[in-house]
Amino acid sequence: MTKVLRLPDPLSSNLQHLKGSETIAINAEARRLRALGRDVVDLSVGEPDFDTPGPVSAAGIQAIQKGLTRYPPNVGVADLRNAMAKHLSDLSGGRAVDPDRIVISTGSKQSLFNTCFALFGPRDKVLIPSPAWVSYPQIIHLARAEPVMVPGEVEWGLKVGVKDLERHTDKLTRGLVLCSPCNPTGAVYTLAELKAIGDWARKHNIWIVSDEIYRRIHYGQGPAPSFFDLPDEYLERTVVIYGASKAYAMTGWRIGAAYAPSPVAKAMANLQSHTTTGANHPAQIAAAAAFSDPRVEQEVVKMTAVFRRRRDRLVERFRKEAPGVEFVEPVGAFYLFFRVDGAKDGLTGSKFCDRLLSEHAVALVPGAAFGDDRWVRLSYATSDKELEKGMDRIMACLAEFEAISA
Ligand code: PMP
Ligand code: GLU
Repeated sequence: MTKVLRLPDPLSSNLQHLKGSETIAINAEARRLRALGRDVVDLSVGEPDFDTPGPVSAAGIQAIQKGLTRYPPNVGVADLRNAMAKHLSDLSGGRAVDPDRIVISTGSKQSLFNTCFALFGPRDKVLIPSPAWVSYPQIIHLARAEPVMVPGEVEWGLKVGVKDLERHTDKLTRGLVLCSPCNPTGAVYTLAELKAIGDWARKHNIWIVSDEIYRRIHYGQGPAPSFFDLPDEYLERTVVIYGASKAYAMTGWRIGAAYAPSPVAKAMANLQSHTTTGANHPAQIAAAAAFSDPRVEQEVVKMTAVFRRRRDRLVERFRKEAPGVEFVEPVGAFYLFFRVDGAKDGLTGSKFCDRLLSEHAVALVPGAAFGDDRWVRLSYATSDKELEKGMDRIMACLAEFEAISA
């Protein structure tokens, strides 16, 4: 007798808007194809191709050997919070950074979730400059608040200004999620721009969630401008998101942090006391080494120099080989965002990426994932060799579309 499979009850309305992460899905597809033996160049996911610096891994191994394998303090181990506070203070000219306001979590993705869940809820609107990293609107929805996308200005590297924010603000607006250096564009807000946005937020009593995970990967002078570079009053209604994943090549260790006013930090700690009981203990010890060991600092400088060299090479190739293709010149992070609708009338990022993967074996992320499907994101956090091969194929694919439209 055949067994009738019963459908499960419908899922809860908590997940009514939920879609899986496109960046993670495309990366998984590229890996699947590679496992089948296809020579796929994966320029989709934002994950450094470097190994975690030696002293960091050694600190993690020693932590395990020393038996630091029990539950960690829920907010994070003191060594890590102190090291991160000192590091953030050093990056901003020695300003005061209170370790007690830092909550360590399982990647900055969880820090963002904790922050949004603690600050926003039903009926709240939260502004997100667009294009935006895939997870922001999803996290806002999970908090049952409403994401409001604010399109960036094309002439301005797709950044937003106070006028853009003002146009989308009403009395229900409670927050803004800002990302600088920006995923997916690589644009960076200047300190004057951050200050203007900070003044606007203070005027309207709006919370700023400033995602500064790419702060160290900056091609201007020193680290990218931060809310830590502004006077104390700009941190009164601001939560800064930081972490180890990107600049320290530690994506798999899953260590992130939020720096928040004390009552918010306390609420987030309570929240994660019921969800994760704090981040992985040995990984926290490894991250403490990342933020304090001068040898690691040298590695960060070297890795950033490599990202810069790759950025220069990509920009040069786009200018020379595809002069009609518009792109945002990256000032930070490791993404290049380019526009495909000019190559052929009506061409979308999704159509371009489908053909690029099926015919040319290169994985990129269509702009649709970030809210604007006229564009495509390329991650250059991969080896020079793969990058050159990927670029040859991208240029060939662009030329094919241009030939169809000619
Ligand atoms: N913010 C941005 C803008 C990102 O691109 C990422 C990438 N995963 C994250 C946060 C989360 O990083 P992680 O959880 O690895 O710290
Ligand atoms: N942030 C990276 C990206 O945008 C990693 C994947 C993810 O977490 O979305 O590709």
